[in-house]
Amino acid sequence: MTLSMLPYRDELKVGDGRLFIDGEWCESSDGGTWTHVHPATNEEVTRFAVASAADVDRAVRAARRAFDEGPWPAMKARDRKLLLRRLIEALNDHADEINRLQSLDNGLPVTFSSMYAVSAAFAADIFDYHTGWVDKLTGETIPTFAGSDRFEVTLKEPVGVVAAVIPWNAPVMLFAQKAAPALATGCTVVMKPSEYASLAVLRMTELVEEAGFPPGVFNLVPGEGPTTGEALIPHPMVDKITFTGSRAVGQRILAASADGIKRVSLELGGKSANVVFPDVDLDMAAMTAMGMVTMGLSGQGCVCQTRALAHRSIYDDLIQKAETMAQMVSYGDPFVETTTSGPIINTRQLGRVMGYIEKGQEEGARLVFGGDRPGGDLQSGNFVNPTLFADVDNTMTIAQEEIFGPVLSVIPFTDEDEAIRIANDTTYRVAKALRAGTIGVNGFSVMPNTPFGGYKTSGLGREGGRESIEAFTETKTIAFALTDSPM
Ligand code: NAD
Repeated sequence: MTLSMLPYRDELKVGDGRLFIDGEWCESSDGGTWTHVHPATNEEVTRFAVASAADVDRAVRAARRAFDEGPWPAMKARDRKLLLRRLIEALNDHADEINRLQSLDNGLPVTFSSMYAVSAAFAADIFDYHTGWVDKLTGETIPTFAGSDRFEVTLKEPVGVVAAVIPWNAPVMLFAQKAAPALATGCTVVMKPSEYASLAVLRMTELVEEAGFPPGVFNLVPGEGPTTGEALIPHPMVDKITFTGSRAVGQRILAASADGIKRVSLELGGKSANVVFPDVDLDMAAMTAMGMVTMGLSGQGCVCQTRALAHRSIYDDLIQKAETMAQMVSYGDPFVETTTSGPIINTRQLGRVMGYIEKGQEEGARLVFGGDRPGGDLQSGNFVNPTLFADVDNTMTIAQEEIFGPVLSVIPFTDEDEAIRIANDTTYRVAKALRAGTIGVNGFSVMPNTPFGGYKTSGLGREGGRESIEAFTETKTIAFALTDSPM
């Protein structure tokens, strides 16, 4: 198979992508590059520069200067809003191009890349929501008990230099989830995109540059986790780390941040349960259950609801309908509109997914559909056939661990109490009632003005809504006395 977008890759402005530091594009100081290989074909798409530790240091120092000495935190709200509005307009104007680059990054079919929840339009709306906060960062006035002429006021101040590390599965949306609240509150940013998905983010950074943000306010350092990422996270001039990715890296970040008592927000993995009760529209429930793990990202998302808990009275019917749904999955060129589902991001992850499928069978789950890889034209890509397991016990590995592939595990339950107990019984959620940061009842969505995040090992803090503003600000308390009298 050949990707239909490749013929015009020479026109990609990001083809020889660079680092964006202190308002300028530059090459890596040690000449390091990353070769981007497309997951649907494993053919080389392009190369881009990756930041060395010295480049990261330069980027963090630029962000520090822009925060401490530069105009950003002190800029008039009107001027900061103007710059953010220019960026919003540019994101909307270039939405189609950015969405296609996202498909070139991670293989997400272009029809899904353009769907609101992960698209450039959503990224623009996230910036729009946070831009509204620029002139609303107000504190409180608090009377004190020390005397009637005494009171205290609180101020909301930006937290400082933010290190933002994002994964490959939704880079466009996550660029905005990190950068928008940081920039709106007056923080400066050093962002590291995933080495597996930097193209759309490089283009978005060009739009930041064109919008005219002052040098050092936003810096981009593409590169690998163990090198570029490890140089960024412990940097002593970073005040806050905002991270989306795996639990293992999240734990490393939390440990590394202890030294400087850095502020940390973590959006990590998930093992969400989709609970299907008998009074539901079963066709819709089966479509949702199987669709969530097979359509678009092919189960490579933290919100994919990879366990379907089905009431015993509709259990067999749900499995049969889910199997019909699995047959509708269409793999292929992500730039062709009939393609419904993407490949696994890389060959290492492909091996992991196949390993989980094997483990599921070894531990006694019933393989109803899939479990293998498509052949023919699709063989060179990282595709896994949609896979449906029934008779899954919640203690099995496939029910407990995040697979990040098109694998649905169906688990039977008898009553509501049992459903809640099973839903909660993962390391991602452990407690009495449904312990989850985001719950969908007959549907699910994430919006710019609603907080999003995980409980327990699924994360720390929230993105979106008022909570993301809180996460990027510090509260300062100032005590006042109207008269010059002693306490
Ligand atoms: P990952 O943790 O491997 O990588 C995420 C980012 O961290 C990448 O930019 C990577 O280069 C960087 N990184 C890796 N090692 C690092 C290190 N030692 N120091 C600093 N940075 C490092 O995760 P991934 O495979 O790219 O993404 C998938 C994971 O993200 C899944 O677990 C998924 O559930 C999670 N995710 C969570 C949410 C959410 O909102 N909760 C959203 C999307 C994805």
